Amino acid sequence: KESTLWEINPLYNEVKMKARLLANENPFGPSAQVQKAISDAISSGNRYGHGDAAYLISMLAEKEGVKPENIMLGPGSTDLLEKTAIVLCKNGGNVVSADPSYMSLVNTAKAIGGEWKPVPLKPDHSHDLQEMDAAIDSDTKLIYVCNPNNPMGAITEAKQLENFCKTASKKAPVFIDEAYLEFMDDPEANTMAPLVAQGHDVMIARTFSKIHGMAGLRVGYLVATEERINSITSMVRGTMGLCVTSLKGAIASIQDKEFVDSCRKWNKESREFTSEKIRGMGFKEVPSHTSFMIFPIAHEGKSFAKKMMDQGVGIRVYSIADSPWCRVSMGTMDEMKTFIDALKTATA
Ligand code: PLP
Repeated sequence: KESTLWEINPLYNEVKMKARLLANENPFGPSAQVQKAISDAISSGNRYGHGDAAYLISMLAEKEGVKPENIMLGPGSTDLLEKTAIVLCKNGGNVVSADPSYMSLVNTAKAIGGEWKPVPLKPDHSHDLQEMDAAIDSDTKLIYVCNPNNPMGAITEAKQLENFCKTASKKAPVFIDEAYLEFMDDPEANTMAPLVAQGHDVMIARTFSKIHGMAGLRVGYLVATEERINSITSMVRGTMGLCVTSLKGAIASIQDKEFVDSCRKWNKESREFTSEKIRGMGFKEVPSHTSFMIFPIAHEGKSFAKKMMDQGVGIRVYSIADSPWCRVSMGTMDEMKTFIDALKTATA
């Protein structure tokens, strides 16, 4: 269960925060090249972006080693998580996923009459794949795995996940949310995207919101078998939600490898700094493979978040197994220093 900042301050988007560390946004994006591509694209805003969408799809297909028919675009991966849930759970059934995990897909499935079958994470915060497999039944419409997982920041070992995908996808489609994949040391060894080319009924969601720093520009994509993409796009369309500026921005960002690599580097530096400082204060975080970090606190969640916000620091609090946890997104080094100072005051 998560206390949103809306509860603490409904106008949180308007608040000038000294350190905005509550939504896993990338403080360095979008890259200069993306900004230029977007400003150059403004004058073509009178035209639909079908051509740019097709071009972006062909680039993504090449990057993922699949055909363009295996790619569906969406305005952010949220759109694809929700559309998948709507299409696959339209007649009810259940979704198997870890608890805690990212809830967009499950919440949509529940809202349209589906049931959630939560499976607790293992003590090391990885997915309990054996228990998840056991939870699949004839009513299961979707299996959702977030890797690396949000809010825990932990990973599930790639080989084990690959084996799980191969066997579980024979029973129901497996949806792997890889929003934070690129923050890992070796994203290519951890993605499940190659399973699609092998014909497994696995869907991979990716986003330009995180390492590409384009959260407000809304571009995400799904990699899945042609049959699975067609089953979704026969009900809801992908590309109509994207604007031409964002499409041009995403096209530029894919080519800006230097920017992505530099973001992975600063994120790691911020993570190491934050980990060292909070451990020095007696906290212990879950080792993170993402652009955020979570650790248990001994303070009531809402009042802790308010104490942080009163100092201009936005974080997110979660209640996990009835205990409060603080999730902090990685920001610039200055923001992380501000966070540490505020944490000292809030927990004094
Ligand atoms: N998946 C995970 C695990 C996330 O943490 C988020 C956002 O924080 C999303 C998906 C949605 O991101 P977006 O809709 O911006 O692509």
